[in-house]
Amino acid sequence: MWNKLIYLFWFVIGTIFGSFANVLIYRPAAGLKLTEPRFSLCPNCGAQIRWYDNIPIISYLLLKGRCRDCGVRISLRYPIVELTYGLSFLLNHIVFPLDLAIVLDIIFTVSVPAFLIDLRMMMLPDYAWIFTLGASIYASVFYFKSYILLDIIGAAISLLVLMLLRVRYKDGMGVGDFFLLPTFSYACGLVYMPFLMLFASVLGIVFSMVKKSRIIPFGPCIISVGYILVFLRYLTR
Ligand SMILES: [Zn+2]
Repeated sequence: MWNKLIYLFWFVIGTIFGSFANVLIYRPAAGLKLTEPRFSLCPNCGAQIRWYDNIPIISYLLLKGRCRDCGVRISLRYPIVELTYGLSFLLNHIVFPLDLAIVLDIIFTVSVPAFLIDLRMMMLPDYAWIFTLGASIYASVFYFKSYILLDIIGAAISLLVLMLLRVRYKDGMGVGDFFLLPTFSYACGLVYMPFLMLFASVLGIVFSMVKKSRIIPFGPCIISVGYILVFLRYLTR
């Protein structure tokens, strides 16, 4: 019984972080600062969203997906993001010990907004690699201590490859990738690093072919492949 309640607790915490992630995703796209306005406003009528209309998933269902004031449709993206975070946190806490689960919660929390913002606006928020690196260093110290040096070498190799590619394809890569790729290379470790480079590149090429664009969104590819590999590494620790 108590076990189940703990899982419910982490699911709810996940949806709250998902709600916070919605702010991180929405505000840069709408040209707003992250901290202003302090409360969320309806983009249609400007009414301040009341706290009881801001409860993850539940408020959306109660309001039937409409603004309480003007009745405009609220994007289904909000509850979907909240649910995704809830399920991701739930999975992490079922599979991993508490501290490792929290490390993955943190990486997931910053990864989803970074993925979507880079995909849409071609800019990678710095918090993505900073929080991912910080959380990964914790995991290194407590779970992969004997690999730290090898993992740093792996990160350095990935950075070197990226710099060589930069010489070849001048405008192909954004500055953010130079932080993001070594960070995820370090986080997933030397053994998984080549798979990160390979699968992220393949995914990027497939993506640009599907979208018929010459610009490869490398950031989202590093993030999605990197997160899966970090998850696998923790699983096989
Ligand atoms: Zn409204």
